[in-house]
Amino acid sequence: MNQADPIRNSEANVPLRIGVLALQGDFDAHRRRLQELGAEVVLVKNPKQLDAIDGLIIPGGESGTFLKLLGDAGFEKLKQFVRVKPTFGTCAGAILLATEVENPKQAGLGALDIRIRRNAYGRQIDSSIRQGRFIQPELANSPLEMVFIRAPKIERVGPGVEVIATEGDAADPVAVRQGIAMAATFHPELSDDTRIHRAFLDLVSNEKER
Ligand code: GLN
Repeated sequence: MNQADPIRNSEANVPLRIGVLALQGDFDAHRRRLQELGAEVVLVKNPKQLDAIDGLIIPGGESGTFLKLLGDAGFEKLKQFVRVKPTFGTCAGAILLATEVENPKQAGLGALDIRIRRNAYGRQIDSSIRQGRFIQPELANSPLEMVFIRAPKIERVGPGVEVIATEGDAADPVAVRQGIAMAATFHPELSDDTRIHRAFLDLVSNEKER
């Protein structure tokens, strides 16, 4: 992989095609961020479009509404997709990717072995900007701004899940990765820091070259 241009497929020099699920919610900020980083963006409004992308971002919004809008067929299609192609879920997207969802219980795609609780921070801190830590070998424990909006909380992390960012004294996991699935309970698309999106594009690029 070409270090200077990490998100291109070095052989064909073709930009990565990243889908952003655009049924509802906060998809446009992801589109802008991805384009800024040189990716080609497909706004996915129909599950059929999943066939033509290298990776997918499931944005924030209302996870229950996503489930309704996807319907059973869309949910099944997405479930197949997340097994074979890199997917990054933020906030409601993180909820969708989980194996176990609480408050209330709802279906998850099962791409990440986590238990996640919706709207877990209560009214007072419904929305907040906090400093967390991004954990990556080369950026060990570096500060990271995190925007939380009616955020869920990751309550259990399975043995195969890597924690890539934490928040607070208790080092709560707020971004995780398992294989080709990644999730953040905050909104990296609303901060200037591009490292989380870059980490996802690296994942997509590595998968594509395999
Ligand atoms: N509260 C939303 C949910 O439970 C998530 C909020 C968000 O995506 N910003 O689905």
